[in-house]
Amino acid sequence: MKNYDVVIVGAGPGGIFCAYELEKLDPSLKIAVFESGNRLEKRHCPIDGDKIKSCIKCPVCAIMSGFGGAGAFSDGKYNITNDFGGTLYEHIGKEKALELMHYVDTINCAHGGAETKMYSTAGTDLKKVCLQNKLKLLDAQVRHLGTDVNYTVLENIFAELEPKVDFFFRTPVESVEKTENGYVVRYQESGQPAEASCRECVISVGRSGSKWMEQLCRNMGIETHSNRVDIGVRVELPAVIFSALTDELYESKITYRTEVYEDNVRTFCMNPRGVVVNENTNGIVTVNGHSYNDPALHTENTNFALLVSKHFSEPFEDSNGYGESIARLSNMLGGGVILQRFGDLIRGRRTNWKRVEESTTRPTLQATPGDLSLVLPKRILDDIVEMIYALDKIAPGTANDDTLLYGVEVKFYNMEVAIDENLETAHKGLYVIGDGSGVTHSLSHASASGVYVARKIAEV
Ligand SMILES: Cc1cc2nc3c(=O)[nH]c(=O)nc-3n(C[C@H](O)[C@H](O)[C@H](O)COP(=O)(O)OP(=O)(O)OC[C@H]3O[C@@H](n4cnc5c(N)ncnc54)[C@H](O)[C@@H]3O)c2cc1C
Repeated sequence: MKNYDVVIVGAGPGGIFCAYELEKLDPSLKIAVFESGNRLEKRHCPIDGDKIKSCIKCPVCAIMSGFGGAGAFSDGKYNITNDFGGTLYEHIGKEKALELMHYVDTINCAHGGAETKMYSTAGTDLKKVCLQNKLKLLDAQVRHLGTDVNYTVLENIFAELEPKVDFFFRTPVESVEKTENGYVVRYQESGQPAEASCRECVISVGRSGSKWMEQLCRNMGIETHSNRVDIGVRVELPAVIFSALTDELYESKITYRTEVYEDNVRTFCMNPRGVVVNENTNGIVTVNGHSYNDPALHTENTNFALLVSKHFSEPFEDSNGYGESIARLSNMLGGGVILQRFGDLIRGRRTNWKRVEESTTRPTLQATPGDLSLVLPKRILDDIVEMIYALDKIAPGTANDDTLLYGVEVKFYNMEVAIDENLETAHKGLYVIGDGSGVTHSLSHASASGVYVARKIAEV
């Protein structure tokens, strides 16, 4: 059996920043990181647009898993705010959370991100314009690394950590058990069962590890709670339509309360001059987006999600199951993601290839033309249509017939794991950080939670 001071499960931003900070604070610690996916340079999605056009549902998704986690090929937008991206501040306090997010930014800058731009909503007139149109612009600073620089930053951090930390790639941890002096994690090595022991164990398994996390909580008697899922579409339109917002703020998080149902709809993950991409969560294909920092890789379109939050009350508990069922419907009808022109949706007709070809907005993702009204519940679709018309007032052209809608975009939330102000479970020395805890939903919050726990462990 291998022996470590600290074992980290998952090499996404949470796990990486935890390892980074631990090693920096106490180089004598023996640290291991177990990761289901590959090393960064070996992470390749088989979709080549030629032989393989859509998701073939690999057992371990190269987009979601591996060094860098779900964030590796993301747009690399590090939002520094307590207004969205998670509720880490509820555990560690608002000031501490912001301080750690700024600290993470300094590490990213020191590893290749220094030349990228930091945007801010402070002092913008757009706030007033939004309010005048029943929209609310949320406060944030955002460092946009871009998919390309984000990758470089990860490469540099890995190069620094590799000689000091034991990384086990393509090695999913099967189980974690409490022992007299700490924990033992079980996994497979060359097809044989293997074990590693540790004094403290940090679980950082993100969204792709959500089912595993649920099982672990059941096995170890850790309380969990789940009642939220966000469902919607990804909107794609010519970049000029949104340029007043994106040139100044890059990412604007705008919320809207609908008149009909009084539901909250919000923009999410805005990608100026970016591309729309497939995402595979537990075998279900949904949609996402990203963009590059390098102008040579820019497209003529901007994309963002419009999401409606669904909170369920008793007796229903399986909010993610609800979201999955809706995404499955789109996969059933379209073989994956469905694409519809806004004008076709409003006229109650499906989009077909001819209408896509005639559209002035060229899609950046090859999705199946279809009818989103056969997939999304009426209430959610009504909310989205209402918000598109509201956005049209601050960014005229948003409600054009040729605006493209891709569905389904689902933001699954991991169930919230019962953790205290140290992000520690009821079991001493067992910490749960990042998106796997249900507390964070973003790169900056997940990374900050990793630094926080590393400092707690190092001060013991
Ligand atoms: C396409 C895309 C774009 C995004 N863009 C942004 C963005 O611009 N800004 C932003 O703030 N957020 C963005 N996000 C969300 C962001 O990536 C996540 O919030 C963040 O990665 C969470 O970090 P994490 O470390 O908690 O989890 P993850 O990044 O999900 O990492 C968890 C890791 O744990 C591994 N794992 C799971 N189970 C096990 C196991 N049993 N044993 C070993 N390893 C395991 C997984 O393989 C994975 O690599 C995006 C997400 C996607 C998918």
